[in-house]
Order: sequence, then structure tokens, then C-alpha cells
Amino acid sequence: MTDSVDLAQLPTPFFLVEEGKLEDNLKQLKEVMDRTGARILLAQKAFSAYALYPMIGRYLAGATASGLFEARLGAEEMVSVLAAEGKHCENHIFAPAYQEKDFPQILAYCDHIVFNSWKQVQRFGARARAAGRSVGLRVNPECSTQEGHAIYDPCAPGSRLGVTRSNFEAALAEPGGGELLTLLDGLHFHTLCEQDSDALERTLDAVEEKFGDFLPRMKWINFGGGHHITRPGYDLARLERCIRRMQERYGLQVYLEPGEAVALDAGELVATVLETGENGGLFAILDTSAACHMPDVLEMPYRPPLRGSGEPGEKRYTYRLGGPTCLAGDMIGEYSFERPLREGDRLVFEDMAIYSMVKTNTFNGMPLPAVVLRGRDGRARVWKEFGYEDFRGRL
Ligand SMILES: *Cc1c(COP(=O)(O)O)cnc(C)c1O
Repeated sequence: MTDSVDLAQLPTPFFLVEEGKLEDNLKQLKEVMDRTGARILLAQKAFSAYALYPMIGRYLAGATASGLFEARLGAEEMVSVLAAEGKHCENHIFAPAYQEKDFPQILAYCDHIVFNSWKQVQRFGARARAAGRSVGLRVNPECSTQEGHAIYDPCAPGSRLGVTRSNFEAALAEPGGGELLTLLDGLHFHTLCEQDSDALERTLDAVEEKFGDFLPRMKWINFGGGHHITRPGYDLARLERCIRRMQERYGLQVYLEPGEAVALDAGELVATVLETGENGGLFAILDTSAACHMPDVLEMPYRPPLRGSGEPGEKRYTYRLGGPTCLAGDMIGEYSFERPLREGDRLVFEDMAIYSMVKTNTFNGMPLPAVVLRGRDGRARVWKEFGYEDFRGRL
């Protein structure tokens, strides 16, 4: 990592991760753990800037992975590093389907393995148990609590994620079904997205209604992610009641595995205006692309906050901001400014630590943004820079 750099001199685009903000979030999550006894894990898929895993591991109970590579990253960059400091971090994994060729490594890296179906439990559960791993099954409580983001609703009809009550029962009714149940240490659900604890409370009602008869024989329950715990105004008291409810009624260890809440608002994406133009309104072409550097802007979709700007029409000059790729729809959004944008102006998109670096791509041969870390003292260090070989290397 380079010494402190002058950000004004650093070429754009770059992600700027704010360690102070990350640590503030971690402290809040740690307080929830300390008050309730719940264990909170980093869902790496949202934020995998592993330079900061040692800090995250010092506050949280560990990490969770969506597959083998994330599991390895968590094991090598968090679990091992913290072990050297004398702290045990847990390493969990959930994936919709594991592959035979990966499973030995998964067993080596992970201490909790969550399966998505009874078939998967049948295939791998006994081996996980024999290796001393904790085994979980993801259930689908069939309780949608969000509108708007249908692609983030694992409870939608026809979902492939999690076992429904009827599939749960059908598997247990098969010959040997009862034995399957004895392989389980815990149940896992993940149904929320950027939500408050009222949605969690409703989901717990559904989980108890559908699977409550199996909870007394479990050791743990995992509430998944999607809890916007570090967002101002989040109802922490209700979250803690939800945690205690599962602890007191069923004697369960509660896990939460937020991604967003860990690095919420803990980073920016800094870009430069390359050119401005007009076509039925002002537009500007930036050196950052929605399609390549912030794909959730198009996928989710959403309009990222831009420092110092207003809603369209709110300030004097409204621009449509777009990327330098060939894609007509590579548009970040419409923003207004007090003065006209000029070539070379720098723009700072906020809340860009989560679901950004982990999703970048080099479509059109676009360069990947550098990753810069800024400490609480304001000193910034370049962690990663990318070039032509990163584009070429994956083709
Ligand atoms: C995505 C995901 C998470 C993290 O979700 P956030 O919305 O980032 O908090 C946790 N667990 C599972 C199984 C997930 O798929």
C-alpha cells in the first residue's frame, strides 16, 4: 500500500473507503451483540475490501460467504488474522447448491454450512457433521415483506431459495426423512432487503407459524441479512426484542449476517466530468460508468446520492449524468447543480462502499476504479490500482 496520497492529485475514478465510518457502524453492531448475545457476521458479498477484514473481525463474530471463494477470503483474511490476535472468528457459508469438487475445501474453510434443500443435506450433511461442522437448512417462510425490489424477494412465488413448509414436510415423510432432521443444528432464513425490524418481526411470526415445531430441537437460528441496522432511525429496540424472543422461547443462539449495514455510507466513488452536451436538456459524460462501476444503479435500480447536488429541477442546472460506454442506458441519473458543470469537475457519489467494488466489470474495456482507504485521521492510502492487464486477464 502506498503512503498517504493527495486525493486531488489521484486519477479518477476511485472508490474511497472511509474507515472511521466503517468503524462507527461496527461499534453499533457490536453494541447489539453485547446487549443481546446475538452473533453478527459480515456478509462478504456486499463488501469484500479485505484490507479491512482485520478491523471488522475485531468487532464482529465473523464472516459469511456465498460460495467457495468468499469462504476462502474470509478464512484467510479474517479468521486467520484474528486467530493470530487470539480471537476466534466464525466462518459461515450459504449457497443454493454446492458442488462435489468444492466441498472438501468448503469443509476446510467453514465452521457453519447452510444448505438450501433437503437434497443438499442428504448429499453433504453427514460429511459436514462428521467433520465437526455445524449444519443448517435455509427455510422459506413464504412471507414477502417488501414491494418494489422483486429481484430481491426470495419469498416470491416459485422461489428457488429456501425450503417451504410443504417441501419440508414432504422430505421428512420419505423413508429416512426423520434421520435428515437429526443432521440439522440450525435453521436459516434470508428474506429482507434494506428493511427495518418491523419487517423482521413479521417474518419471525411466519417462521414460527411454519417451522416453530422444529425450533426447540435446533441450536441456532440465522436471521440472514437485509437488516438496515446502522441506518439512522432504525428501530434497534424492536430488533433486540426479536432476538430475545428466539432466545427465550427456544433457547437458540441467534445469528445475523448483514452486508449493507456493515459498510452503509462508508465510502464514495469519485469521478470526473469528461464532457457536457445538450439534447433536449443538459447531459454530462463522466469517467465512471453505471454499467461497469455501479451496476446496482441499473439493476435495482436506484439513484445514488451525489454530494452537493439536488433533485432534478431543484437547483438551476439539471444534468443527466452518464458513463463513457456504448450502452445508451448507461445513465447514473438526473441531478441539479447551482452552476454549470465543466470538464474536469470532480463528482462524489455517496454510499458507494456496498455492492459496488464487488460488482465492477470491464465491459467496453472500461478501467476498474482504484480502491483508496482513508483513515479517521484523514490520511488516504491507495490499496488497489487496476490497469489493462486486469481487463485482459479475464478474457
Ligand atoms: C445478501 C445476503 C445477505 C446480506 O444481505 P444485505 O442486504 O447486504 O444485508 C446475507 N445473507 C444471505 C443469505 C444473503 O443472500
